[in-house]
Amino acid sequence: IFAGPIAFLKSAPDLRFLPDPVALEVAFAGRSNVGKSSLINALTNRNGLARTSNTPGRTQELNFFDVGAVELQGGEVTPPLFRLVDMPGYGYAKAPKDMIRQWRFLVNDYLRGRAVLKRALVLIDSRHGIKDVDETLFDMLDNAAVSYRVVLTKADKVKASELQAVMDKTASQIRKRPAAHPEIIATSAEKGMGIPELRAAVIEALG
Ligand code: GDP
Repeated sequence: IFAGPIAFLKSAPDLRFLPDPVALEVAFAGRSNVGKSSLINALTNRNGLARTSNTPGRTQELNFFDVGAVELQGGEVTPPLFRLVDMPGYGYAKAPKDMIRQWRFLVNDYLRGRAVLKRALVLIDSRHGIKDVDETLFDMLDNAAVSYRVVLTKADKVKASELQAVMDKTASQIRKRPAAHPEIIATSAEKGMGIPELRAAVIEALG
């Protein structure tokens, strides 16, 4: 599936711009700089599909990607098999107050109103673990009853023993959360580590 066609569909700065809900969705969320763009690019084996950001002020939008939509002869396009959704990064240190408000409204509206959203994958930096801003997102997901799973990023940046420690700690931190998947996936976009497991997690989420 990930070797087939994957294409950017559209950006939605607010709910009026959401695409028609014709396919199931799996969303990616995480703090700015967590490695979300790099991981989406590794997942889909395409460089530059998700822009590697570096412009935290500009990314307050949901980005939708069609997976498996095929253009037929004559230009008609089949519906996608499913969609990947790149959610706006959060927790940017210098974010102005109304940007944070805008993020909260957009994400909350999307999580609460999107019946085709099957699961969110919440990215956490292996070096830092869960921060308060991540807990805020977990609360929103639990309250919206949207299933989610934690994916550790940049696993190449820590020693194997530290990675095991952060996996154990993270698992215990989410254990009481009702909508959290109990199993954590460790990844490195840079080294290709955990990418097959991440692909399997996306497919499982659609199940
Ligand atoms: P985003 O803001 O969450 O989309 O993060 P990016 O994908 O733009 O990555 C932020 C920074 O982390 C960039 O400098 C990346 O090169 C780096 N990065 C991303 N993934 C990895 C990884 O798996 N390993 C390492 N060592 N660096 C990474």
